[in-house]
Formats: sequence, C-alpha cells, structure tokens
Amino acid sequence: MGHEVEINKLGQKIEWNHPLYHFKRKVWNSHIDQYPAIIFDCKCEEDVIAAVQYAKQNGYHITVRGGGFHPAGKSVKNDAVLIDLTNMNQISIDEVSKIAVVEAGVKTYEVDEVTQEYGLAVPLGMVSNIGVAGLALGGGIGYLRGKHGLTSDNVVGVHLVTADGKLLYVNQFEHPELFWAIRGAGSNFGIVTKFELKLHQTGPNVLAVDVSYDYNDIRQVLNKADNYRKQAPDDIAFNLIITNMNQEQKVSQPAVRLIGMYDGQLNLQVEKEIIQPLLELATPTKDDTEITTYLDMQKKFDSLVREGFAIEGISLFLNQLTQDLIEMLLEELEKTMIPATIHLIELHGKINRISKFDTAFNIRDASYLLVIDAEIASHPEETKEWIHSMYEKLLPHSYNQTSYLNSSLVCEEVIRNTYQCIHKQLVVLKKEYDPDNLFCPEHKLID
Ligand SMILES: Cc1cc2nc3c(=O)[nH]c(=O)nc-3n(C[C@H](O)[C@H](O)[C@H](O)COP(=O)(O)OP(=O)(O)OC[C@H]3O[C@@H](n4cnc5c(N)ncnc54)[C@H](O)[C@@H]3O)c2cc1C
Repeated sequence: MGHEVEINKLGQKIEWNHPLYHFKRKVWNSHIDQYPAIIFDCKCEEDVIAAVQYAKQNGYHITVRGGGFHPAGKSVKNDAVLIDLTNMNQISIDEVSKIAVVEAGVKTYEVDEVTQEYGLAVPLGMVSNIGVAGLALGGGIGYLRGKHGLTSDNVVGVHLVTADGKLLYVNQFEHPELFWAIRGAGSNFGIVTKFELKLHQTGPNVLAVDVSYDYNDIRQVLNKADNYRKQAPDDIAFNLIITNMNQEQKVSQPAVRLIGMYDGQLNLQVEKEIIQPLLELATPTKDDTEITTYLDMQKKFDSLVREGFAIEGISLFLNQLTQDLIEMLLEELEKTMIPATIHLIELHGKINRISKFDTAFNIRDASYLLVIDAEIASHPEETKEWIHSMYEKLLPHSYNQTSYLNSSLVCEEVIRNTYQCIHKQLVVLKKEYDPDNLFCPEHKLID
C-alpha cells in the first residue's frame, strides 16, 4: 500500500489488515458487506480535514459514518474512503439560548440523556441508537414531529468541511445557500462535524400510547386512525405497525399495533377527546398505554429493530390511505412467507406547516410515510424480489412517487421526484461545492 498520511495526530488510519477494519466497516444492516479502501477514525475537525484532503489527492470518493444506521448502508462503500465520526461525540447545552451543540458522531440516546437533565429535547428519531448526523442532514422523523417538526428543521448552524478541505461555519447568515441545502440534502455538500440544534421543553414524563388490535379489525383500525389523523393536535404523533413476524421473527398470524406519544398537559378532557379515541379504534387485544419517561419512550422501538438485522427495505410518502392501497398491502402481507413489517408513520402538524422552500426537505404535504422492512432470513434472493415487486406496485399509489431518502432502496428517478422543484438548485450548489462528486456519489446530483 505504502501511502503515508499526515492525519492521525489524534485519529487512526485503518486499512484492510488493521484489527479494527472489519468491525469498522459494519453497519446496522448486517446484509451490507462493503469494503472501503481506507477508514479514517477521526477524533477532531483537523482529522476530518486531513482525511478529506487525502481522499481528494488520491482520487477516492468519500462516505461518512455518523451512526451507520442508513438501512441501505450508505455510509460505507467499496473502494471509497470512509470517514468515521463515531468517536466525535461531545455534547454541550446552552440552557439560556436553548441550543445543544453536538459533535457529528453522537447517537440519539446520548443527546436525549444529556438534554433531559435540563427538561429539554431535540426532536430526533424513534430508535435510541441512530446517528444524529444522518437524521439531521436528511430529515429526522420522531414523536415530536407534530409539535416541533423534523430534526433538520431544528438545525440552526453547523461546522462543515467542504471538498476543498475548508472548514465553514454555516447558518442563516453565513453561507445561507448551504444552510438551506444541508437541511434535507445534507450528505451531498461536505462533512458536518458539529451541529447546533434547537431545544424544546419536553418531558420528563410523556404519555406512551401502545395498543394492539385484532388483525381481523385492521380495516376499521386503519380507517378510523386515518380520520383521527386529519384532526389530530400537534401534541400527539403515532405510527401503525403491521407485521407478520412474531417475537422470534418467524412468520405468524399478522398483528397490528399503534404506538404513539402525547407530549402535552393531561386532564380529563384531553384523555377523553384526544387519547381515548386511539384506544378505541376497535376492541383492543392489549393496552400498554402508560405515563412513562421521555427517555423510555425513545427506546420503545429498540427491541423491534435490534442491531444485526439483515433487511431489504423501501419507503414511500403517501398523501392518501386509499382502500385500494390498504387492500393491496394486506393481500401482499398475508400471502408472503417472508417476515415483513409495514410501518405507517402518520404526518401532521408542524412538520407539514414549514414551507417547502425553507429547507431542502420539501415533502411538506404528505399524510404518511410508509416503510416496509423485509427480513432476509434464509432466502435472500426471494426477499429482494418481493421487496422490489412491492416497490413497483406501490409507486403508483405514492405521493408523486417520492421516498424518504434517509431510508432504504430508492432509484434515480425517485430521488429526482423527491427533490422536485429544488433539484435544479441542488445541482447548481453541488457543482459549486463538490464538482468532482467527492461526497455521496450515488446520489448523482451531477455526473
Ligand atoms: C432501525 C432504524 C430505525 C430508524 N428510525 C428512524 C426514525 O425513527 N426516524 C427517522 O427519520 N429515520 C429513522 N431511520 C433512518 C435513519 O434516520 C437514517 O438512515 C439516518 O441517515 C441514519 O443516520 P446515521 O448517522 O446513523 O447514518 P449513516 O448510515 O452513518 O449515514 C447516512 C448517510 O449520511 C451521510 N453522513 C453521515 N454523517 C454525515 C456527516 N456528519 N456529514 C455528511 N454526511 C454524513 C453518510 O455518508 C450517508 O450517506 C431508522 C433507521 C434504522 C436502521
């Protein structure tokens, strides 16, 4: 190999024969098996700058690892330089300005634990181990979406290392065009080393809504939940989870569960008018609704998505939950032997009130994000075929054929559809800040 690098005052350069190489190239989805050319385990901004310069001088593309949770494994790529930020995880809180400053290797639970000491929270995702960086750069849909929007809507500034190795401070006044772009299309323009994130009064206790229904009532449950969503207050957010997997991940009788969070004042009227309707969509088979801590709420999904899962997944935005779509989803789920889970993540409130021109996350009028995960058990090819066929069948039912780019499989056309009217603007910025496609080449904003 023989190339020397002058990084590593603090970080490490990890090549294929280093004892940490195979550990470091692993991501959450164990189906992903990519071999980066070199991994730079960075500890500070100087390390990141040196690693970018190294990649550029030696003709490598770059991927960045925040938490490694992108379901399609976008943080690791064959023959590219992997810039690993997992050891950059400092967090500080300014209680007065209500801003958290977090380094780009932090996980959601790390931010939640520190911010909750002050009774505050940043709107993050719904699993506790996700990287904050990927969330904040590509959206970030969590239980606080109705009240405070996406994670990316709560970014107020970043430190960004650009393709020419410069460190920029980016906010609404400094490099405003980049500030717009990194909130939604963030992984295309450089490496964010530090985020400034808005904090909101949250918890310490919230109401965790957790109710299961008989699968035979599923049509009624979905239709009633859809009507509820149309008038739901900002304080509540919920997901419907339909699965044919039991606890041991074997195909079994399909089940439906609603998990949501209410973060507002509780009183008799709220219980009757806002909470009770979600518990009576049909006759519940189980009701674990309870007051719990915000920290525990954030971990509620963890056991369903344990690390080491091997999945093929898709996501699509919907603007309507039509009967045709419901019938098609249920029919496919019932007839497949592949262990699969459908998540219907309802969208309302603040997340949809932000103008589509304010940030580069411009899907602001969808009603649901539909995510389907299929577990790759013993038949990887069948799983792949099934998920691809689901994608093809679902595309015509989706909202303008758009996907959540922070999630799983997407084709070029869907990427273009998803950026819609801002695609041209992103291409202009890409040409200005990363003309050689150093970052995220698979997005193909430019050739
Ligand atoms: C089990 C599971 C649960 C999930 N739950 C949610 C959820 O509740 N809500 C939600 O919105 N999403 C959810 N996601 C999707 C997840 O939020 C995104 O995939 C997100 O990108 C993960 O962030 P990460 O830092 O772990 O990403 P990584 O996989 O590390 O990176 C993702 C992409 O961002 C780029 N990137 C990472 N860090 C930086 C950086 N500092 N600067 C520039 N580019 C960078 C990478 O190159 C890559 O292209 C979930 C995913 C999984 C697997």
